[in-house]
Amino acid sequence: MSYEAIDPASGHMQPIRWFLERGLTEGRCDICEKKMTIRGDKTPDGKPHFWHGPSPSNCPASSNNKLRYASLAASATDHAAGLLLEAQVKEHLHTFYLACQAIIDAPIRKTDFIDAVRCANKINVL
Ligand SMILES: [Zn+2]
Repeated sequence: MSYEAIDPASGHMQPIRWFLERGLTEGRCDICEKKMTIRGDKTPDGKPHFWHGPSPSNCPASSNNKLRYASLAASATDHAAGLLLEAQVKEHLHTFYLACQAIIDAPIRKTDFIDAVRCANKINVL
């Protein structure tokens, strides 16, 4: 579940509120770049969000694909790979934020995300 998507016309990431205010119903996923539509915007208690459906998606941010990664085991420490991962996370921090949000299937406040990254950094995860 994502609350932000790429506006296909401008190529810029926009919050779902921005799409709803303009009557737009489609955005692009910033992870897999496939079309996403808005749902949950028609019911009074619904929480509008973007989704890849109704057809199946291979996007790692899609909740249907989460189990594929649940069984991955930790590997041996590789400092070079760690430095590369750190650089990639810094370069794609917003995408990483959206993927974390999709994994827990709920919005993450940016301050909580920043705290999580700092904690991960302290214990040498990142
Ligand atoms: Zn996607």
